[in-house]
Amino acid sequence: MAQLKKKRTENIEGNFYVDSDCINCGACYWIAPKTFEDVSGMSAVTHQPSGDQEEEDAYRALLSCPVSSIGVTENSKFAQATRALPYELEEGVYHCGFHAESSYGAASFFIKREKGNILLDSPRYVKQLENKFVELGGISLQLLSHRDDIADTDKYWQRFQGERYLHKDDVSAKTSHFENLFKGEDIVSIDEDLTVIPVPGHTKGSVCYLYKNKYLFTGDHLAYSRKLGHLYAFKTACWYDFKKQIESMERLLDFDFEYVLPGHGHPYKASASEMRDSLEKCIQWMKTP
Ligand code: SF4
Repeated sequence: MAQLKKKRTENIEGNFYVDSDCINCGACYWIAPKTFEDVSGMSAVTHQPSGDQEEEDAYRALLSCPVSSIGVTENSKFAQATRALPYELEEGVYHCGFHAESSYGAASFFIKREKGNILLDSPRYVKQLENKFVELGGISLQLLSHRDDIADTDKYWQRFQGERYLHKDDVSAKTSHFENLFKGEDIVSIDEDLTVIPVPGHTKGSVCYLYKNKYLFTGDHLAYSRKLGHLYAFKTACWYDFKKQIESMERLLDFDFEYVLPGHGHPYKASASEMRDSLEKCIQWMKTP
């Protein structure tokens, strides 16, 4: 729970506040952009939510904060907000919320589909979220984008079983028991609507998952920057090989997609042609020293 005694002085007065344990993961900035902003390297409430939608967004940010740095002083609607997670973005694609500190606050996603539901990267383990997954039909596949976003995968697997996918180059002692450890850089089709695209760079075993030729789940390979106005990659947080990451980015030009769902930063939606333009700008930017 957030602690009032640690409340940052940068918060404006009102119900919501951020305390000084914030790790500046950025999750609240995109989940509730009207309420939270980066102020001096940490989050602060710069506008108290007004209206149902802003309040709902602020509560989703509160529940998603990986270090419980967001608090309220009154009118707790935790139970109602908890029931609203996972949050449907569109067409059975959900943002799970409940980000994990071990993933540095990375987002995870859930897909509801007839052939079996999918968890993409892992939220922290929360019983209420597990119960919501049960209501939505369980989990058949757990797809991991790279080694850093494993979080509580095993706990969800203990409840739902199924197969866990991770690239062999990102396996550690903690993940060597996963059911499906693919290798190399070949494109792999898991189903006709689900493709694995290896994108080494951020880590050696990073992959993107393309669903319905529309939704691209990118882990830490690719995100969108409002400041730059186009897609981008984390230049200063590349743990394997940035030149290799540029090649992997060029590889994505072979695919059409309209929705980028990253581990860090807000999901970004555009037409396939706008997305391609944005990706080309990203590649040029990556090549610029
Ligand atoms: S979600 Fe939590 S840790 Fe992340 S920036 Fe917001 S307050 Fe800080």
